[in-house]
Amino acid sequence: MHKSQFTLLYHTPPLRVYFPPCPHTLYQTITGEGLVMRRNANREERGGRLLSALAAAVLLTLLLGIIHRLYHCEYTDTDTPNDCFAVSAATGETALPKMVCLTFDDGPSKNTVPILEILDREQVPATFFVCAQDANERYLPLVADIAAAGHQIALHSATHQYSKIYASTDAFWQDIKALRQALEPYVDVGGIDWLRFPGGSTNTVSHRYGGRGIMKTLKAQAEQKSYHWIDWNVCAEDATASHPDAAQILRNIRRDAEGHDLCVVLLHDTKATGQTVKALPDIIQWFREEGYTFCTVAQMQAVKDEVSQPNEQAAG
Ligand SMILES: [Zn+2]
Repeated sequence: MHKSQFTLLYHTPPLRVYFPPCPHTLYQTITGEGLVMRRNANREERGGRLLSALAAAVLLTLLLGIIHRLYHCEYTDTDTPNDCFAVSAATGETALPKMVCLTFDDGPSKNTVPILEILDREQVPATFFVCAQDANERYLPLVADIAAAGHQIALHSATHQYSKIYASTDAFWQDIKALRQALEPYVDVGGIDWLRFPGGSTNTVSHRYGGRGIMKTLKAQAEQKSYHWIDWNVCAEDATASHPDAAQILRNIRRDAEGHDLCVVLLHDTKATGQTVKALPDIIQWFREEGYTFCTVAQMQAVKDEVSQPNEQAAG
């Protein structure tokens, strides 16, 4: 089970659209003459608004032209496809497109196949942070199917027991080694270089077993070992003791995703998370409607790298 450290951090007020009050409602108590004057005044006001709108449209067109020119000047010599990213005219900095990574922890399980079927139907890539506990054992061969379907396999933990893996840094890397060995018969483990720390990289449960500094040391060691690691900023809370239903899981996700252009969604793939499978089509539909592109965590990183590279070069 995971606890999101971001859950309460990212809340923005909903977008509010201002509608001007209807003149007939406002002035209906005014005498006949006054009403005509008001209506004339409103007509003039509407004319004024129309002119302002026209001026704004002209300005916007000019601005878009400038952005377009800047964009092509800066990127014609790079491999970055020109239609992928927006560019801020003021700074020349690139903005990332809206992206979402669906990530499934703790699998494979009896729910892996239904998850894969939905992802295949919807043509959505995902990332699976897998385990090799007793509960996973009979489903482990499914990691081959996950990889064959084009999803990303990443490491989570062999035992997933905090008291064991966080007893020491050596214990942690021993567990990762055991996980790699368990996966070896089914996938090319040499190509697996992403991991997610059980409980997240800022968990405090590890302090109880390995001391206060253990996560900091593990993160530094992960970097030395050329691992990428990632937490999440959207928590489905689908593996909590309250066993939320599919509708609640979707609400949890929408609540956390609000205001984020990059979403890493923590979901679970265990025998207890059937409601996650039930919610999955609606989760995908919601992100799609909100204009997100689906990708694996490695793909998201590649896009980030591509975007940051031209600026680094420009900075010398
Ligand atoms: Zn986990």
